[in-house]
Amino acid sequence: MTTFEQFNLPPALSTALAAMNYTTPTPIQLQAIPLGLEGKDVLGSAQTGTGKTAAFSIPLVSKIMLSPRGSALVLTPTRELASQVMEVITQLLGKRSFIQSVLLIGGDSMTKQCAKLRMRPRIIVGTPGRINDHLERGNLILHDTSFLVLDETDRMLDMGFGIQIDKIVKFLPKERQTLMFSATLPAEIVKMSAKYLKSPERIAVGSTTQAMPAITQEVIQVSEVAKYDELVTQLNKREGSIIMFVKTKRGADKMTERLNKIGFKTDTLHGDLHQRKRERVIQAFRDMKFRILVATDIAARGLDIPHIEHVINYDLPQCPEDYIHRIGRTGRNGSVGSAVCLISPEDGLKWRDIHKLLYPNEPAPHMPYSPSPKRGGGGYKGKSGGGYKGKPNNGGQKSGERSYGDKKPGGNGGNNRFKRFGGKRTPSSAAA
Ligand code: AMP
Repeated sequence: MTTFEQFNLPPALSTALAAMNYTTPTPIQLQAIPLGLEGKDVLGSAQTGTGKTAAFSIPLVSKIMLSPRGSALVLTPTRELASQVMEVITQLLGKRSFIQSVLLIGGDSMTKQCAKLRMRPRIIVGTPGRINDHLERGNLILHDTSFLVLDETDRMLDMGFGIQIDKIVKFLPKERQTLMFSATLPAEIVKMSAKYLKSPERIAVGSTTQAMPAITQEVIQVSEVAKYDELVTQLNKREGSIIMFVKTKRGADKMTERLNKIGFKTDTLHGDLHQRKRERVIQAFRDMKFRILVATDIAARGLDIPHIEHVINYDLPQCPEDYIHRIGRTGRNGSVGSAVCLISPEDGLKWRDIHKLLYPNEPAPHMPYSPSPKRGGGGYKGKSGGGYKGKPNNGGQKSGERSYGDKKPGGNGGNNRFKRFGGKRTPSSAAA
């Protein structure tokens, strides 16, 4: 059996891994850790939930532990992801470590961050905006930062951080080791890697455009007016933690209010919330204080909450790749999850693009459900075998027959797909 012992890690790091219950390296870790320890540059593509964070954090912490000098910087697209990376690194350092680290993210107290920076931390994790802020003010010095990680680089580019990253990299020494991770590897990422990496080793786990196989995907075609009723039906059918994606921040707030009113314990996560509030929401969701998290795409990547059992796409994402990241919030590290898309006629083209990304060799899906009054009832049957399954449409017709208050929220709704909230995941044949 492969274990972490084969990497000859510093004893403190091995102890920390044991305390974290990490015994067997995941495939991406098996590939990335030896390269990272050897000092190689790495361009890695891995699906979310594969253990990517530890894949770069283990070599990072090992290098910092083994050398009295030098520092490491990790850049991530979102504050949440930065916090999660910092948490993993803190665990890897272990309770007894004297190595200082700092989290530099927007929305957090500048004064507190400055105080930490004065202690010359050797591990810096943060988002590009705030890191540049500190660099420009002269609070942060990176001339001995010889280890750089760019995490979820495609996302950072999508969010317009390209120029910020350029600026930051100029503060780092040319002689350094750089690990760049990206869920997808479009041409601009490959171009960027040529700029920042030296003869990188390319590693990949699974296909970058395939959803994780443990996630059952379901598509429900429904008219825009019947969508909310269908959502309530779906919520009643499901047990366990749910993350639901909507398009806008306002939409997220409104949806949360509506669901709370009818008895579903719901909270919201979007970019307009203060950092403290965001952290509180994530922590409460982690602690199962409420069941449904309504989020905009800010939460689509990186959020690692193992007990999320269902992803509901109430609105489809703006870019197809985000679909994969969204549904990657469930089925974490090999567990089972389900994803459902409520697709109205207006979403037809977007869904086609997502389908093309998931199944490039398949013909475009037939979308019988059109905006015309002559709606088909057969629905769209997706590819079977790949975990993707269509479902007959009935949402449009049902809407007038009942009100969403009729059913007891959180009940079983006849579909005992999962045993109980927070319990063992037990997929039923209905989800297969
Ligand atoms: P990531 O892809 O880094 O977000 O990790 C996904 C999940 O896998 C997290 O909950 C990690 O704690 C967990 N994980 C990562 N590596 C291992 C490992 N070698 N053994 C057990 N769990 C792991």
